[in-house]
Amino acid sequence: MTYTGCNLCQADNSSLLFTKDSLKIVKCLECGLIYVNPQPSEEELRTIYKNGYFNGTWQSDYLTEKKLYGPRFRERLKDIDSLKTKGKLLDVGCAVGYFLEAARQDGWEASGVEISSYASEFAKKSGFDVFTGRLEDAGYPDKHFDVVTLWHVLEHMRDPAGCLREIHRILKDSGVLAVELPNIESKRSKKSGENWDQLKPREHLYYFTPGALRRIVEKTGFQVVRVSTLPKGTHIGEKLEHLGWTRMKKWLIRFYPLTQWIKKILLRIKKVAGEDDIILLYALKAKPE
Ligand SMILES: [Zn+2]
Repeated sequence: MTYTGCNLCQADNSSLLFTKDSLKIVKCLECGLIYVNPQPSEEELRTIYKNGYFNGTWQSDYLTEKKLYGPRFRERLKDIDSLKTKGKLLDVGCAVGYFLEAARQDGWEASGVEISSYASEFAKKSGFDVFTGRLEDAGYPDKHFDVVTLWHVLEHMRDPAGCLREIHRILKDSGVLAVELPNIESKRSKKSGENWDQLKPREHLYYFTPGALRRIVEKTGFQVVRVSTLPKGTHIGEKLEHLGWTRMKKWLIRFYPLTQWIKKILLRIKKVAGEDDIILLYALKAKPE
């Protein structure tokens, strides 16, 4: 465990919000960033992301559920396409490579970074160039990529500002940064307090509000194009898994177009209801400060 100052403003002035799973979640009294302190060591994190993470309990059928991730990824690619002409895309935390595949189908030259060797080997087998380890250790050349994506990844890192600075270095001028992560300012988070399902301090070391995400991105040299909040996609497969209906889930995958149609309607209802579980941000590489 390592004691750390605030990753956004460097202050060492925080108050305790929650203690969960024997870890302390604190809020910086200077800038409002919420983070786990002290933090698990690099070594402890590596243990968490060993094989079990991608084929363990919460995603036991991750590999068979590929199709269910498709629509969300296609939506994100539509956003990216509106900001950038096709070129080199890097997905940091690419897991087994579903987004890489969606990006390739969309015409991008897609590669990835993944800390879990189990997951990265899987992506490599699908023909993708994937670096196994931390982004900072990959050593990509300066101004190499047109787009870098971080889908539910930044909150897992020990040094999000450092990761964003590295992304700034490897992006071409006016390259696109895309980030999606849980919103700690969401209605659901406020209502659930320490029982919020995204409050999992072993994995999520940082908790962002839309404002804090904007500030850390701007501080590391980006110009924000858009920050929005949106409902968490209904993952029917995951829901059913909780209920233990594995067979039913397989059936739903079989009748994929129907389930997608149902999901779309549910998502629209959630949007109208103002659900705001997720923060989605797009930014462009600007000149460094
Ligand atoms: Zn701070």
